[in-house]
Amino acid sequence: MSYFNNNTVLFLNGKFVKASDATASLYNQTMHYGNGVFEGIRSYDTEDGTRIFKAKEHFDRLHYSAKMMHINLPYSSAELEAITYELLRRNNLTDAYIRPLVYLGNNMSLSPTDEVHVVIMAWEWANYLGDQLLRVSLSPYQRPNPKACHVEAKVVGHYTNSILATTEAKQRGFDEALLTDMNGNIAEGPGANFFFEKDGKLVTAPLGNILSGITRATVFELAKELEIPVEERFFTADEVKTADAAFFCGTAAEVAGLKSLDDYTFPFNWEDSVSHLIQLRYRMRVSVNEYHQLHV
Ligand code: PMP
Repeated sequence: MSYFNNNTVLFLNGKFVKASDATASLYNQTMHYGNGVFEGIRSYDTEDGTRIFKAKEHFDRLHYSAKMMHINLPYSSAELEAITYELLRRNNLTDAYIRPLVYLGNNMSLSPTDEVHVVIMAWEWANYLGDQLLRVSLSPYQRPNPKACHVEAKVVGHYTNSILATTEAKQRGFDEALLTDMNGNIAEGPGANFFFEKDGKLVTAPLGNILSGITRATVFELAKELEIPVEERFFTADEVKTADAAFFCGTAAEVAGLKSLDDYTFPFNWEDSVSHLIQLRYRMRVSVNEYHQLHV
């Protein structure tokens, strides 16, 4: 996958620069210790032009993540949104994946640093789990303990856990991993939240051990519109193995249906599940300007 070419422009510390000319110091604290924060955002080609889906929610979460890691982010959410629209315009992008990253300056100590860098990149990226139903495996890895780090912050270093889990599942021939929390309940995927469907209801893990997904919150809104009940509660892999259907959801993954969890195949035809209705509704939602959603 090539993320940029000779014409790609990115935003770096107040300037739009060519991606191929942009550099960062090898002494930066984010590279050595993982202390940096980021976002994953998508824009869509809508009837009213290019729209960043839930931009405010994403940039507000970036602020939250920065605050939890003692990083002073020098742009407001509104400024970051305006910069991102300009970035998309300069790269002629409409349907895009947008990656803001806040990384720190040279600092080999374990204290935060005042030198804060902000980079925003964008590229075209098909939904990252693909369009096929996924064969998922229960991971031997757990999500990070919420008493060890701020799990609701999107911190660079947390993704070593995700990389281990996905790699391990793929090595055993699966498409993706499903991770437990520190108590053995199902938490989420390496880069997406998890829902299962039983008797027309959706169930997902409560906040506390998971990233508070913006897509997860959107699924709650869509389920309300469709009058599908949603329960937030703890559950185990054994209970998932009695479910009718299941899906992952996240900005990059969008709504991705599951075929199986280990040896258990979800019995519903994906097309007959309420999960599928959520997937269709999500596609509609992201491609319609939010103004219309509020006023039509
Ligand atoms: N959980 C994890 C661990 C993630 O990395 C992501 C992707 N940001 C999500 C859930 C889904 O979050 P969102 O819907 O805000 O993209």
